[in-house]
Amino acid sequence: METGPSDPGGNPQPGRPSLPMRAPEVSGIQLCPVCHGKMRQTAEICPHCGAEKHFGATPWEAVRFTLGGLVIGILFTIVTRAGWAVGAVAILACVTIAFIVCQSRHGHRWMKRP
Ligand SMILES: [Zn+2]
Repeated sequence: METGPSDPGGNPQPGRPSLPMRAPEVSGIQLCPVCHGKMRQTAEICPHCGAEKHFGATPWEAVRFTLGGLVIGILFTIVTRAGWAVGAVAILACVTIAFIVCQSRHGHRWMKRP
């Protein structure tokens, strides 16, 4: 993210009169999607409920999607009666697509700790 030269990283500017109703850190506050508690925008773990910010799929989800891609690739090979060279490429492509879909589907989210 690029900021202009006039914006010193969100600091209140000296020339601007400060409003008493608005604290400078309000803009850096986000609500936890799990417990709706307030926390800093940069926080990776909710201080209230302990939910954790996750990027991408969990290993188990990646395994499930990859296996799904593998099955689709094998089915494709059987249905089209492709040779093993074509089948291997198809399976590889399906696994790769499944993995990408898996990662993009589970973008970033908050997960409650067990
Ligand atoms: Zn929370």
